[in-house]
Amino acid sequence: MYGRMKEYLANTLAGIKEDGLYKEERIIESAQQAAITVAGREVLNFCANNYLGLSNHPRLIEAARRTMEERGYGMSSVRFICGTQDIHKALEAAISDYFKTEDTILYAACFDANGGVFEPLFTQEDAIISDSLNHASIIDGVRLCKAKRYRYANADMQELEKCLQEAQQQRFRLIVTDGVFSMDGNVAPVQQICDLAERYDALVMVDESHSAGVVGATGHGVSELYGTYGRIDIYTGTLGKAFGGALGGFTTGRKEIIDLLRQRSRPYLFSNSLAPGVVGAGIEAFRMLGESNVLHDRLVENVEYFRVRMTEAGFDIKPTQSAICAVMLYDAKLSQQFAARMQQEGIYVTGFYYPVVPRGEARIRVQLSAGHQKEHLDKCIAAFIKVRNELGLVAD
Ligand SMILES: *Cc1c(COP(=O)(O)O)cnc(C)c1O
Repeated sequence: MYGRMKEYLANTLAGIKEDGLYKEERIIESAQQAAITVAGREVLNFCANNYLGLSNHPRLIEAARRTMEERGYGMSSVRFICGTQDIHKALEAAISDYFKTEDTILYAACFDANGGVFEPLFTQEDAIISDSLNHASIIDGVRLCKAKRYRYANADMQELEKCLQEAQQQRFRLIVTDGVFSMDGNVAPVQQICDLAERYDALVMVDESHSAGVVGATGHGVSELYGTYGRIDIYTGTLGKAFGGALGGFTTGRKEIIDLLRQRSRPYLFSNSLAPGVVGAGIEAFRMLGESNVLHDRLVENVEYFRVRMTEAGFDIKPTQSAICAVMLYDAKLSQQFAARMQQEGIYVTGFYYPVVPRGEARIRVQLSAGHQKEHLDKCIAAFIKVRNELGLVAD
């Protein structure tokens, strides 16, 4: 029976390869950290979401080990049957504390948090107004809900206002945005979004996956950056990026919203509870960030150092307020050549081009980390200059 489908899939795969869009996994033979081993060779990693350098931190490993010994390996249950330990509640409380919110609900991933947040709260009477560059999991989550959908161009407040005006007949309106957009590293204009939300009677939701741990004076996310505490109703986020990089997601915000999600959110009700080791390490991550700001300070320093030196060297860098630096090359093929040459130089970065970014806006995306030493940054910058010169590109 499979024959016809097999042929169809083989053709589809060939098409993906022809278009140069086939994704190969690159195999890492070491732990996730600044210097990793790829194909038996050490390279410096500039494409992980390991913003605070916690992915291989001894304190998190120790916390995971200790919690696993005390509370076991797996939960073998969803939260509401017999999958909730005291540590799950403690992690939820730590997240509420970090974001200064009323309550938090954990998920297996932020993909699930976003998949389970819209449908329980909004019906066909309501409107969801979404930034065009929002993460795939927000787009999918919105699709699972019957609310009327509106979309505005990335961070375009005039278009958002038009959407809000058009949606005035709906019962409830929700504006949803990523905190930091992963391709440019720009931060959503959350303050203006809150202003518009107040003017047009809408709720606000921010996905903090790339912004929490990164933006704001001490890294606490968009509300710390913009002073929008109390004005954002729902935040979602991940433990898979700045906060240790293992897995786990959450929705945090208003008490009644979180309470209803515990009753009705399908990825929460029908998917396994987070494993104790992951939960224990998660609690430790938030404890560490509460004790001291050194990791976030180092991240900010590294971003600044990299950006200033790359700009001085004549590279065209998208303005960023996050740990993401888009080094613009514009040409798709060149971005792939450039990234491949960088890897030969021992620097692991990713080239992005259409359809991941707009046509003619190909780039190398560099992600900085508190785990990078100055010498790592210098090597990366030197490689950028060397490869540029070899490829005969002119500095701006
Ligand atoms: C990474 C990311 C997610 C997915 O998080 P997971 O916990 O890995 O599922 C969701 N939203 C945004 C904005 C992200 O960047």
